[in-house]
Amino acid sequence: MIQFNDVYKEYANGIKALKGISFTLRDGEFAFLVGPSGSGKSTLMKLITGEISPSSGSILVNGYMMDKIRMRKLPYVRRTLGIVFQDFRLIEKKTVYENVAFAMRVVGAPNREIRKRVPYVLDLVGLADKATMHPNELSGGEQQRVAIARALVNNPSTIIADEPTGNLDPARSLEILMLMQKINELGTTVLIVTHEKAMVDEFSQRVIAIDGGHLISDGMDGYYNYEEV
Ligand code: ADP
Repeated sequence: MIQFNDVYKEYANGIKALKGISFTLRDGEFAFLVGPSGSGKSTLMKLITGEISPSSGSILVNGYMMDKIRMRKLPYVRRTLGIVFQDFRLIEKKTVYENVAFAMRVVGAPNREIRKRVPYVLDLVGLADKATMHPNELSGGEQQRVAIARALVNNPSTIIADEPTGNLDPARSLEILMLMQKINELGTTVLIVTHEKAMVDEFSQRVIAIDGGHLISDGMDGYYNYEEV
């Protein structure tokens, strides 16, 4: 569960990026986080991962109080999160399989488990037949699937994705969001940052809209509602 309670974030330069944000994303939920450039989306995501701390208010992420958490505890909360970026962030020298397996190796998973889990997640994202290829041999959509497999491989309770379709054409974007929805249906909580209105409207999902650091709408009635505010 992710819970923001009256969260404010003011940066050192005096910019107030978030001005009293409250929402709850329950276990198993799916939501889009939308808003124009500069509205505070990245700030909100960085508060979830613990990259930055709030100026005031409380943030609960999968049982951890992020506004009070100690640095040495951050790895524990991060293990509950799978993070997907716009620019994929794959290791070019490694194969698809090794990119995904590496995420398990760094947390000390036994080889036996890696050999079982990596093929399972590659199959889940539709890349079972590309395991031995390198990222530069894949399309953008396929590279993002590898990044999603990597985010999933340690079985996080929550996937957060920051503009995961920002580098993809509309057809690939739709496929990636449908994959995210499938992952959610299998039990993982999903939060996706996007500013692609047309994409969001394809899905009947919760949309949390922010603008100017304020939460301006939160519900199942899509991006249209957000535009009209
Ligand atoms: P979005 O992701 O929706 O584009 P951001 O969260 O990146 O919005 O930015 C919200 C506001 O905070 C903007 O006015 C931005 O300039 C400011 N901001 C973001 N990061 C920093 C930072 N590290 N230092 C100072 N101001 C920042």
